[in-house]
Amino acid sequence: MSTYRCPVCEYEYDEAAGEPREGYPAGTPWAGLPEDFTCPDCGVREKPDFEPAS
Ligand SMILES: [Zn+2]
Repeated sequence: MSTYRCPVCEYEYDEAAGEPREGYPAGTPWAGLPEDFTCPDCGVREKPDFEPAS
């Protein structure tokens, strides 16, 4: 599984952990997130802005 990092606040989305508080259960792949996914921490960066972190 991979991790993706927000370029602004360094929040990381870990596919293995998902983001349950946003409605994405553990194991949700990056490709499974909607294109309008926004950073849960800063809210100013969208999915295309994230960078692979691993
Ligand atoms: Zn962010």
